[in-house]
Amino acid sequence: MTDRYAVFGNPIGHSKSPRIHALFAAQTGQDISYQAILADKHGFAAAVDTFIAASTGLARGANVTVPFKEEAFRLAVQRTSRAEAAGAVNTLSFEAGRIIGDNTDGAGLVRDLKHNLGCDPAGRRILLLGAGGAARGVILPLLLEGPAKLMIANRTEETAARLALEFARLPGCAVGVKPEGAGFPQLAGCAFDLVINATSAGLSGAALPLPAGTYAPRCVAYEMLYGRETAFMTHARAAGARVADGMGMLVEQAAEAFFVWRGIRPHTAPVLAALKEK
Ligand code: NDP
Repeated sequence: MTDRYAVFGNPIGHSKSPRIHALFAAQTGQDISYQAILADKHGFAAAVDTFIAASTGLARGANVTVPFKEEAFRLAVQRTSRAEAAGAVNTLSFEAGRIIGDNTDGAGLVRDLKHNLGCDPAGRRILLLGAGGAARGVILPLLLEGPAKLMIANRTEETAARLALEFARLPGCAVGVKPEGAGFPQLAGCAFDLVINATSAGLSGAALPLPAGTYAPRCVAYEMLYGRETAFMTHARAAGARVADGMGMLVEQAAEAFFVWRGIRPHTAPVLAALKEK
């Protein structure tokens, strides 16, 4: 009676989630299966239905990746507060015929920063680059860590301004700093201790027009994309920053999902090491 899980995406062939969850299950002695499912671009809800029906009562949950996180948000009949704040869902739990939506991306990033990289966001001046789904998912978890400043900068300035305003009004942000929104040119003269690239510029090889002086001494530059050296990483390293990619976030968001489903938190260090080795 093996409990069944899956990850839905399009494309999905590249997904490391089945391997990560297989390693978590082996480490914690949990009897689960986890498969990658390619859903049709217009057939996400149908693919989830099919998975649940084919699992004959053993479907327990699923991860959701590009481009279905917003659709998963709408599919869930109940959502956690962090999923509500993110406006997107990457983790579904199937409980007594109900679909519950959660978002573990932000928790994954914060855990990677604090536990794997020794970079506590508390008291830091943070620059978050990008205002898409990935940026949205990490704003509240970062604010809750108590940074000294959180600037959201985006190519399309209005999107950053809108996002900053939206989060400044959230009840969870009533204490601490209010996020600010900007375009890239407005960053001139500002220095940051933690710069997080949540744009997809790295996918196209594009560089970001960051002014000189963006990276304060001992700054950490975090690229959410993983598996390749991006122009952002090269530029940050040349400017003296310590650079990390998003592989740790990937493993940590998976561990958080595993915890949501199984109530057990797996050790991530050996899994991260195994992925990096490969
Ligand atoms: P979206 O498509 O929702 O948003 C893309 C963002 O990137 C927008 O803010 C867009 O700006 C900006 N952007 C795109 N191209 C450029 C460019 N050439 N120059 C400047 N800005 C640009 O993508 P997501 O938010 O879903 O994903 C962003 C990145 O995060 C991806 O690389 C993804 O792989 C990564 N990610 C990593 C995770 C992990 O676990 N490590 C988890 C989730 C995401 P504009 O508004 O102006 O268009």
